[in-house]
Amino acid sequence: MRPRPVTRKPAAAATSPKTPGPKTPGAITPFDKILIANRGEIALRVIRACREMGIQSVAVHSTADADAMHVRMADESVCIGPNPSAQSYLSVPAIISACEITGAQAIHPGYGFLSENAAFVQALEDHGIAFIGPTAEHIRIMGDKITAKDTMRKLGVPCVPGSDGGVPDVATAKTVAAGIGYPVIIKATAGGGGRGMKVAEDEAGLESAFRTARAEAKAAFGNDEVYIEKYLTRPRHIEIQVFGDGKGSAVHLGERDCSLQRRHQKVLEEAPGPVIDAGTRARIGAVCADAVARINYIGAGTIEFLYEDGEFYFIEMNTRLQVEHPVTEAIFGVDLVREQIRVAEGYPLSFAQGDLVLNGHAIEVRINAEKLPAFAPCPGRITQYHAPGGLGVRMDSALYDGYRIPPYYDSLIGKLIVHGRDRPEALARMRRALSELIVDGVDTTIPLFHALLDDPDILAGNYSIHWLEKWLAARFG
Ligand code: ADP
Repeated sequence: MRPRPVTRKPAAAATSPKTPGPKTPGAITPFDKILIANRGEIALRVIRACREMGIQSVAVHSTADADAMHVRMADESVCIGPNPSAQSYLSVPAIISACEITGAQAIHPGYGFLSENAAFVQALEDHGIAFIGPTAEHIRIMGDKITAKDTMRKLGVPCVPGSDGGVPDVATAKTVAAGIGYPVIIKATAGGGGRGMKVAEDEAGLESAFRTARAEAKAAFGNDEVYIEKYLTRPRHIEIQVFGDGKGSAVHLGERDCSLQRRHQKVLEEAPGPVIDAGTRARIGAVCADAVARINYIGAGTIEFLYEDGEFYFIEMNTRLQVEHPVTEAIFGVDLVREQIRVAEGYPLSFAQGDLVLNGHAIEVRINAEKLPAFAPCPGRITQYHAPGGLGVRMDSALYDGYRIPPYYDSLIGKLIVHGRDRPEALARMRRALSELIVDGVDTTIPLFHALLDDPDILAGNYSIHWLEKWLAARFG
């Protein structure tokens, strides 16, 4: 059974166009119906925002996801193809057809899948369907890491020292590396998800690191171009949330510290960052907001930095909503998805920089269906699910009793987010919430968080991007 349908307040519906069409600059075109080109917890997250705004939602799904929670929760649903993502969640023609069949005027891409695919956004523009996110051009600039770095450097954003562009061969790599000093990291221009990256400690290790990074980049992204950066040995991963209106105005919503990573994948995130003070936040936040304002950026974006010895080094910009956006929502009391939808409709930002007041501390843990210590994916049937609750606790998950996690997609099955008046209260609340959470039937990363939240370094906020790998190696070898 689906929840009761919603209707948008008449004022908005009155000005709504009946047929979607190309957007006139400056015009406000409220959406009656949004299609969500995603699955799992993020699809639910967007459906929730739609329902609160009085907008109808359309879920799309693969055959394997026919019984998924996002399908049950949306006002309508369309099966867009078989189980492999390439034939369903990544199929541009199938998603555009679903939009046309249901009359959805806009698409929210969530994160992953087509969220940073410039060709998809271009296809939507050609079909007169609004994309809830930035323009194809913004995605193109930031999707190519060399162009992104170059653009950011010109906008005054501090970057990691490195090659000025792609590095074509080993000989050039050696010259560049000698110039910036070892250790260096070789990264794929088209990279993402931590793939296609290799560290060389010295010149002896450079050739094999270069060749491996290139081969991995070719296999993962179909593009073997790589570039070189100074490898920072104990940085933190600090990212700034920005939001632009597409008309030259932008704000920042502080930082998130996502230093707890395994294989370059985030595991736990917190906001504010334990080592960032108000002055530093205001300074780097202003640089980022100014940079995105100057390129007329529209919607939510994240500028990622490595932070070492008080200095920020830009690594990449994500032109979408992040998995970890709820910690920012908690401390600023804003709904980022609602804001994404509003700016896509043509409204100005609903907050100015001065309205954004940071309150308390928030932590998120990513619950994956994985078996420790190898973190092997663990699909299967959920025999019992109980979500924690109480003051300051948010569980974003698409699980339910009897749900069968399909083996075809990402292993993220839920995000537990807590908010407290300060960091110690947030940590205590996370321990308490984890003690209430029940996910039976599959192995999960929950035991990892029980252990992490008792560790003195975590309690002290004393960790770099390498901390978790060392901690895991000490425990599990
Ligand atoms: P991806 O797009 O694959 O996520 P990023 O450029 O965002 O790649 O880097 C992901 C992670 O890799 C960072 O959070 C950090 O842990 C590590 N990393 C990237 N560049 C460097 C660097 N120059 N020095 C040290 N670690 C790095």
